[in-house]
Amino acid sequence: HVEKPSELHTKRSLLINSPNSESSATSLVWFRQDLRLSDNPALQAACQQGHIIPVYILDDVHAADWRMGGASRWWLHHSLQTLSDSLNHKLLVLSGDALEILPVLARQLGVAQVVWNRCYEPWRIKRDSQLKTALQDQGITVRSFNASLLWEPWQVLKEDNTPYKVFTPFYRKGCKRAGEPPQPSGKPASMNCRTLPDEEFLGHRLADLQGPDGIAALSLLPSIPWDSTMRETWQPGEDAAQTRLSEFLETGLDDYKEGRNFPARPNVSRLSPYLHFGEISPRQVWHQACASALAQNQDKQLDTFLSELGWREFSYSLLYHNPDLPEQPIQQKFANFPWQQDKEALRAWQRGQTGYPLVDAGMRELWQTGYMHNRVRMVVGSFLVKNLRQHWHHGEAWFWDCLVDADLASNSTSWQWIAGCGADAAPYFRVFNPVTQSEKFDRQAEYIRRFVPELATLPDKYIHAPFAAPANVLQQAGIVLGRDYPEPVVDLKTSREDALAAFKSLSA
Ligand code: FAD
Repeated sequence: HVEKPSELHTKRSLLINSPNSESSATSLVWFRQDLRLSDNPALQAACQQGHIIPVYILDDVHAADWRMGGASRWWLHHSLQTLSDSLNHKLLVLSGDALEILPVLARQLGVAQVVWNRCYEPWRIKRDSQLKTALQDQGITVRSFNASLLWEPWQVLKEDNTPYKVFTPFYRKGCKRAGEPPQPSGKPASMNCRTLPDEEFLGHRLADLQGPDGIAALSLLPSIPWDSTMRETWQPGEDAAQTRLSEFLETGLDDYKEGRNFPARPNVSRLSPYLHFGEISPRQVWHQACASALAQNQDKQLDTFLSELGWREFSYSLLYHNPDLPEQPIQQKFANFPWQQDKEALRAWQRGQTGYPLVDAGMRELWQTGYMHNRVRMVVGSFLVKNLRQHWHHGEAWFWDCLVDADLASNSTSWQWIAGCGADAAPYFRVFNPVTQSEKFDRQAEYIRRFVPELATLPDKYIHAPFAAPANVLQQAGIVLGRDYPEPVVDLKTSREDALAAFKSLSA
């Protein structure tokens, strides 16, 4: 599928064909992180205009370190399949540099307009503006829309027109000033996909690039089957996203404020991958949550839930206004932080073998399901950057590869927050203690027993810190530390003190 630009250039001259009668009203609808039919303004606008040709391009060639990770690719495969099904297999699926591909495709198909919904990764912003110029130079109309944020990053600014650096005023003042998010729209009233000509594009028959064959050619699924638990856990796609939202509103929202802290409770929405891939829009989530809370008198729960959607907006605002957020600490002084380099410790963390059950449960949940509960993300993150003193980049990269909801804005913002170097970060001296967090938020160890089954026979009292269990308790449970479950990779007290000393050296 992927073509080198040089080959593309030589083919370009052969690809021009004369527009037919349908084409003057035809729009190319370029799907990106908006893999849905409802509340999709680009699709809506194109359908109102005439025929459409839907296209998806696996286009992260310019993303450098931020090409999609393994778990995201897995999700994308299934998400594209459901989108393609809902488009009667008319979705054209390509791979390569969109800047090279789209102008050629638009010309070959003789379309009048190309539409898309905006993305906010810095490399995409740059590429999209180049693409817009290239298409306009060919006399093609280009229109872009907002489908994935409640408010555009340039809409929520302080009174002096500078971006917010702190969440609470961003959300409570700035977003409020920007007004209630618009109501979502439904699916287009009618959708006419244009039949593609029996022609070749980049060495393939166009028809072979449509539907399941086109998706299979992207090779998004793993060659070794590490995805069995992911398949049991998730059902990607627009319909599944709506079902998940309804279930959450019926059974999870009523105790969201408190329950969202407990990893074994069903009080979080698990909508993050659907939101990332745009199988559901934040406007749909916002307005359906408001309607449901109103009907059930759940104001406080709603306020907390909406503010989490606000964190997502804040992350996008930070990324938009700080394009090097994934790499550079917002607080400059952290550029000189004395990180340690310990490959073994990093590996123990990645594999869920640190000897701290809550950390290990979280890291295994991530590996097996592509998701980790938010409280546990904070605990494992703090453990990595503070107790193990590994650079937050390591955590950011591992999450990027393993999360089905890996999102450049939310992941970079959250890792900077955990490391204490972000805009509105947790202060560096706040070190989460994985044992007390575990005793507080997984008291009966349901979460730990699920993901660290080798500890299941330990009584609740000792399961949070097996290294502190008396010898006879371990013996009765049939557990030998170092054989069945690791000894702690680090001592909590001394590593905390070392981290604080490292931080002090920075401010001195
Ligand atoms: P819910 O509690 O149901 O929240 C609803 C929605 O609000 C979420 O789906 C999400 O879109 C948004 N949201 C909630 N909390 C946050 C937050 N702190 N920051 C931004 N948006 C939020 N979230 C991602 O979507 N992608 C990431 O790559 C990501 N990386 C993270 C890395 C670390 C170290 C940490 C601490 C957090 C990260 N988060 C990330 C934020 C958060 O953990 C997840 O959004 C949340 O756990 C998703 O679960 P949920 O859908 O059940 O959340």
